[in-house]
Amino acid sequence: MFKALLINQSGDDRSVQVESLAPDQLPEGEVLVRVDYSTINYKDALAITGAAPVVRSYPMVPGIDLAGVVEESSDERWGVGDKVVLNGWGVGEGHWGGLAQYARLRGDWLVALPDAFDTRQAMIIGTAGYTAGLCVDALVNHGIAPGDGEVLVTGASGGVGSIAIALLKTAGYDVVASTGKASEEAYLKSLGASSIIDRAELSEAGKPMQRERWAGVVDAVGGFTLANACAQTRYRGALAACGLAQSMDFPASVAPFILRGVTLYGIDSVMAPLAPREQAWARLARDIKADTLEAVATDITLGEAPGVAADVLAGKIKGRLVVDVN
Ligand code: NDP
Repeated sequence: MFKALLINQSGDDRSVQVESLAPDQLPEGEVLVRVDYSTINYKDALAITGAAPVVRSYPMVPGIDLAGVVEESSDERWGVGDKVVLNGWGVGEGHWGGLAQYARLRGDWLVALPDAFDTRQAMIIGTAGYTAGLCVDALVNHGIAPGDGEVLVTGASGGVGSIAIALLKTAGYDVVASTGKASEEAYLKSLGASSIIDRAELSEAGKPMQRERWAGVVDAVGGFTLANACAQTRYRGALAACGLAQSMDFPASVAPFILRGVTLYGIDSVMAPLAPREQAWARLARDIKADTLEAVATDITLGEAPGVAADVLAGKIKGRLVVDVN
């Protein structure tokens, strides 16, 4: 038997609790992974609270991320004892996920744990950090160079934002952090931000074209923030949009795109193919230091996961929540 966080829902009845399950209850898959650590991402918080219809079938073990060790495999690419990471692919939404001591998964979904990290460090990064890697890769591949000007990171104190700041700083960029938490200025500067701005400056409706400021933008919040960031992006600059912490709306105009040649990249981590995943993990392995990971991490137990989910949705959490499932 093993422990798992299980969400049950039937009509108006909903329960989220740690339960004891048998291995033969796990869904199908070629690889059985003994999970060391999982995380609580924004999406996990939506699944756990039921605030948005993230879960596609019940009962569901949430957890879109996990890191652990292969215990059984009928996939020739994976052998017993291999250390692996999983991010996304609908795991924790439509297939039982990482907030459990065991997961059975498709071999296609796994990435080899980079040598630079242990399984806990991989989960400090998690989907949020891997998505930050995809965002930074998009800006770098666009051709934005460190000397081109300031790069804005929104939702800065969150998981995506924190890791994006650290990645951009190591790559040599001048990073400006947009945050609602003025009290976290020292934290954001310790990660690599050269200055911070109050997110209120970006979060209301603004003009379609504003003073050019940003060479690039990593946006985790959407809404008016993303619209204003587009309006402030410099000629031929680029934005990587990955999140909706403020809003799913995009109340913008085409002006920055057709008059300044601005490019807006959409970033999806869930179904991203293996090549960009491996590229993002390689950037993280190269550019994120162990002390940075410790600075962003808060460790919790499986039993504490349901209690913190509402705080995640309220934007009260700084950095990354790591769940020791054992
Ligand atoms: P977190 O909850 O860790 O961080 C979100 C941050 O956004 C908060 O810490 C806060 O930062 C800011 N924020 C919260 N509410 C608001 C608001 N109303 N207006 C403006 N800013 C706000 O989430 P993650 O970093 O894990 O994820 C960020 C977003 O990215 C989420 O929307 C998530 O769903 C999405 N995401 C998308 C992925 C993809 O594949 N596209 C993958 C991973 C995440 P501060 O207080 O510093 O302003």
